[in-house]
Amino acid sequence: RSTSPDNLPQPPAKRHAGDVGRVVEHYNMRPEVGVKQRLQSPIIGLKSFNNWVKSVLITRFAHPVLSSSTPGRPGERRGKVLDMGCGKGGDITKWEKARIKELVGVDIADVSIAQARERWEAMRWPRFVASFAALDCYKEPLSKAFPPEKLAQPFDVVSMQFCMHYAFETAEKARCMLQNVSQWLREGGILVGTIPNADYLLERLDALPPSVQDLSFGNSVYSIRFEDRQSRPLFGHRYYFWLNDAVDNVPEYIVHWNNFVSLAAEYSLYPTYKEEFHQIFAEHQDQEEFKSLMLRMKVVDANGESALDEEQWEAANIYIGFVFEKR
Ligand code: SAM
Repeated sequence: RSTSPDNLPQPPAKRHAGDVGRVVEHYNMRPEVGVKQRLQSPIIGLKSFNNWVKSVLITRFAHPVLSSSTPGRPGERRGKVLDMGCGKGGDITKWEKARIKELVGVDIADVSIAQARERWEAMRWPRFVASFAALDCYKEPLSKAFPPEKLAQPFDVVSMQFCMHYAFETAEKARCMLQNVSQWLREGGILVGTIPNADYLLERLDALPPSVQDLSFGNSVYSIRFEDRQSRPLFGHRYYFWLNDAVDNVPEYIVHWNNFVSLAAEYSLYPTYKEEFHQIFAEHQDQEEFKSLMLRMKVVDANGESALDEEQWEAANIYIGFVFEKR
């Protein structure tokens, strides 16, 4: 397949050491499956629900056409989006629906980036302009992956879905991530994301009986294992995450919310929204637009039956959605 002129020649794939190496290897190895096979996943209800939540967040907070104060021509495309940790490009259709003008996708996993690019190339015309590059966004500046002209016009939105927590391994990485978010985001621009809910995970850890050695909890859908009961470091607070048919005991890091907020303020980013996934559901389930979207995305069936069983529903609430604004 030829590379689109909007995309840049890629350097050879890098090797990453330590926890990062495990994360990269894990995501690179996850096969891209077709729609049919995806529907057969044992956690398809949860996957659909997570996609619905992302759609709600994007439509409500990061929709460049809807959120613009200046009227545009009907159907006009607007907005430049940076999808950091874009993976295989699972949100490409959501950005198309948001009628954006330009997407820049980055991820540390080079195989995923190639798949994201293919997914974008396979879209029907007219489509938004897009560029993709592999980059460790928590270690290296965005300017390393893109030429100055790509970054000259600032982004309206930075999206970080299910990926920002990997930056909280060290303060240095979290700072590099926030610098990459903020440096190229316009004033009034939005950072929208989803991360594990630290309060919930630590509550569950604290609820484990004092006698148990194995510091893990979960159900048949997910499992979380901590290494230490007492210590609560602000960075590098590691646990291992397993999600059936999705994540295989990958090392992740707690994002202590207040720590994140105070660090983000140093990069001119201020929180405007934070909600647990169950609450996002409660808040939007009866709104016509999102209700019909739930049906289309197969979160519920035509009879209003949920596609998530109780265990998937519990796993759904591991996460929170958040929005920050650059001021
Ligand atoms: N955002 C996508 C989505 O919602 O479908 C992918 C989410 S996946 C759970 C987490 C992603 O974070 C993976 O694609 C992984 O490669 C990426 N990631 C982890 N560490 C990263 C880093 N240092 N720089 C860029 N991407 C990273």
